Amino acid sequence: MIHPRAPETNPTHPNNTRNPHTLLRSIFGFSEFRDSQEQIIASLIEGEDALVLMPTGGGKSLCYQISALVRPGCGVVISPLIALMQDQVSSLQLLGVQAEFLNSTLNEHETARIEQNLLAGKIDLLYIAPERLNQTHMLRLLEQSSIALFAIDEAHCVSQWGHDFRADYLQLSVLHELFPSVPRIALTATADDRTRKEIISRLQLEQAKQFISGFDRPNIRYRIALKHDARQQILKFLQLEHRKDAGIVYCLSRKKTEDIANWLGEQGFDALPYHAGLSSAARARHQARFLREESVIMVATIAFGMGIDKPDVRFVAHLDLPKTIESYYQETGRAGRDGEPANAWMIYGLQDVIKLRQMMDGSEGSEEHKRAEQHRLNALLGLCEVTSCRRQVLLAYFNERLENPCGNCDNCLEPPQTWDGTEAARKALSAAWRTEQRFGVNHLIDVLRGADTAKIFQFGHQHLPVYGIGKDRDNNQWRSVFRQLVAQGYMRVDLDRYGALRLEEKCRPLLKGEINIELRKDRKIKTTKQRTRVTPAPEIDVELWEKLRDCRRQFAEELGVPPYVIFHDTTLQEMCVRLPRDLEDFADLSGVGERKLLKYGPAFITEITDHLAG
Ligand code: ADP
Ligand code: ZN
Repeated sequence: MIHPRAPETNPTHPNNTRNPHTLLRSIFGFSEFRDSQEQIIASLIEGEDALVLMPTGGGKSLCYQISALVRPGCGVVISPLIALMQDQVSSLQLLGVQAEFLNSTLNEHETARIEQNLLAGKIDLLYIAPERLNQTHMLRLLEQSSIALFAIDEAHCVSQWGHDFRADYLQLSVLHELFPSVPRIALTATADDRTRKEIISRLQLEQAKQFISGFDRPNIRYRIALKHDARQQILKFLQLEHRKDAGIVYCLSRKKTEDIANWLGEQGFDALPYHAGLSSAARARHQARFLREESVIMVATIAFGMGIDKPDVRFVAHLDLPKTIESYYQETGRAGRDGEPANAWMIYGLQDVIKLRQMMDGSEGSEEHKRAEQHRLNALLGLCEVTSCRRQVLLAYFNERLENPCGNCDNCLEPPQTWDGTEAARKALSAAWRTEQRFGVNHLIDVLRGADTAKIFQFGHQHLPVYGIGKDRDNNQWRSVFRQLVAQGYMRVDLDRYGALRLEEKCRPLLKGEINIELRKDRKIKTTKQRTRVTPAPEIDVELWEKLRDCRRQFAEELGVPPYVIFHDTTLQEMCVRLPRDLEDFADLSGVGERKLLKYGPAFITEITDHLAG
């Protein structure tokens, strides 16, 4: 661990003005607050509780960090993942903030030192895990100390409804009882209403001011396409767009994460698997490499991601469908936290729909619960099949209206073509009906295309009026029709009959000729036109960019921290554009506070000057 010695000019020292704006500049090196940050900080300083819903990358941490520095006493941050505390604390220490963490990775000696410092009022921000906060010893200690505020990060962990539930979070209501006058701030990027209500009631935040930001992530480009050869598709995507970037590839099964990681490794990518079945040592090792290095790809199940605040994740790819739009939003949200362009890329096919439907039907739980799940899956499939702007659909799901199409999703960039699928849909539905709704998609297509398989003859399907009426379309086109019929809820997958397709009530008017249906023309994900600007931006001098990255890497290695802790990509890009030649210019860069200016400014300025001279 790094413990910077008490500096001669401590920017957080009480002699300096404890004004939020001054701290924003002097410590963090930012010139303006974003959206609601200023109001949130103002209410905390006033001693009020706050509930903050802000998308990932919105700037939540700054809200409690600055408030804690302004208020007397130590800000206590409850954060669910011990493994991630160290980097958060190192980042703050580099900014000159007296930050520490207390968790089970520390030895007795270190723990005692930090506890002493806490009692002596020498700590600005203390990160602790929820389980520790529930220990009597810890609560005693806090009662004897001066506390500026409690920040409950990833507050949705208190919700039993979501999949990040942590039993220890339930105990956090004790804070309100033991420290009634200390303001609490609960933060989450989870957008849905039900979770919010649960946070409020479980943490007794009824009196808290609510700050709910828009959930749009404009720098993320959403793309969803048909799966035809998953391995080749992901390979091409990575080769063309993310040769050297860090990213996450989500898969449904543990085995698949390992297979894909191995295979990507053979293709020359630095890919690591991550799932709950790996030993905790392996998980920690892979996570550390992902965080510390600049171009590691994590091939993971949903076990990976919560609390990972690596800002430069350039893409999130889904090789399997997530279960809901909430999960999709949360998982893709891990890309582009630094605000730079990032890709959310997903491929899916009929098999995925069938698999998910089966998993849901087979899951335990009441009928009502299953219906709710089906409903949420339908919304996700709607997002996959929509022909208009995806961002509008995504945000509408969270009750947010986006006036105009976004211009940064595949449908906006290259509007998909549609065709009148009424006739084809009727044929497809008839095929299922005539075969007594007992067969899966492959056989139905065989019937429609007039194939002469053994199964056709076994069941006498060559005599049906639907036999051979679909010769005009090929296999893929029929799969596309069936997929869209299932996705749009005209058909469903029968679990008891191994994936047989059945008709739903909804198809009645379609069969009667009362309504028409527009279908989407499938196409492959295009990589050429839609290619995202990779970092660095095209106008940037790549040679200088690489030199600055090297410089950053050296500092990071010396300190044993991830490179982004030294400077974010955003700051490096700005260096390449503005080419600061002295400390005064350097100080103007976003993300350069007083401490980093003195510590790193000279080295980076030398790199820039040498580069320009050479
Ligand atoms: P969250 O916790 O909401 O996901 P972070 O607190 O990690 O977001 O902030 C995301 C990024 O935005 C970080 O790189 C952070 O330094 C930056 N940031 C936050 N507030 C500001 C601001 N007022 N001006 C410029 N950058 C900011
Ligand atoms: Zn769009």
